[in-house]
Amino acid sequence: MAVIVVLLGPPGAGKGTQAAAAAAARTGWTHLSTGDLLREEVAAGSEVGRRAACYMERGDLVPDEIMVEMVSRRCQNLDPGGLLLLDGFPRTLPQAEALAGPATGRAVRLAVYFTAPDEVLVRRLLGRGRADDDEATVRHRLAVYHETTEPLVGFYQRQDLLRRIDADRDIPVIQTEFLEILDSVVADHRS
Ligand code: AMP
Repeated sequence: MAVIVVLLGPPGAGKGTQAAAAAAARTGWTHLSTGDLLREEVAAGSEVGRRAACYMERGDLVPDEIMVEMVSRRCQNLDPGGLLLLDGFPRTLPQAEALAGPATGRAVRLAVYFTAPDEVLVRRLLGRGRADDDEATVRHRLAVYHETTEPLVGFYQRQDLLRRIDADRDIPVIQTEFLEILDSVVADHRS
């Protein structure tokens, strides 16, 4: 049985940075970012990319049906010993429910929730300079996050699967804490 760790938190919290560094620092972990997957589909001009692009440009969420299909395809190919950092999915309750379904539900061991105040996030996102990082779009993405994604904190807390990380600190400090959490997930899994 594979292990899935969900990364929760607002845009700009550093989930992607932390996940990429952790996957480089620890063997076995794969970093799967749905934002990166979508940007690849857009760049390739695929049908999914064409359907997703307008939502992404506005800072809206891509429809659940596209996202669930995209992630479940990847999870089916997961090898039984695989360790997956799921970055950017789920972002809605229907996505979380799909992930909790029979195919992957038992693999979800933990949701790590990266938190930081909105003003810190806005400053970071504006400094990043991505196409969907102008101020109006950034503020819209944060509003969408608070309304639609933040309720997943309760979803995982109720299942006793939530761990919080204060993401308003230096990257190496956060990384140390994150690696400790991942190491304990692996140790629990193996014992
Ligand atoms: P990210 O790189 O995680 O900030 O994602 C960039 C954009 O991709 C988001 O603003 C959404 O438009 C889209 N996206 C990524 N993951 C999801 C998801 N799980 N559900 C819906 N839209 C998503």
